Amino acid sequence: MYCRFCGKEVGDAKWCPYCGAQQPAQEDKTFFNGSNSEESRNAWGEQINLNTPAPRTNGFSIAGLILSFFSPLLGLIFSLIGLVKSRQYQSGRVIAIIGIIVSIATFIFNTIVYNYMRPYIEQILLEAGYVF
Ligand SMILES: [Zn+2]
Repeated sequence: MYCRFCGKEVGDAKWCPYCGAQQPAQEDKTFFNGSNSEESRNAWGEQINLNTPAPRTNGFSIAGLILSFFSPLLGLIFSLIGLVKSRQYQSGRVIAIIGIIVSIATFIFNTIVYNYMRPYIEQILLEAGYVF
């Protein structure tokens, strides 16, 4: 069984061990879907609005941002997926946008290094005795 709030696997636990939300009893399927129970409390007594799913970790955005520093193409792909998924996950939108910007910046930086710095780097390597 998966937690209604954070989406993590919680087995048959009565309370979610990750977010503390009460889980529906097996025989009470209407607990979370009933129109008369729009609010509930988690294990700490805090009120939860059942109509608003809790934000989930957007792994695509995080992966996209990390990858953008090393591989602009992969960083851009993961960041774009993260941006699309950010509405569904309710998280990772800003991280995805930063990832897209960093991907483009890394691509431009790599292009500049390759096109303009390469002759100098080759010259340094030649003078150091490196044979191409
Ligand atoms: Zn949970």
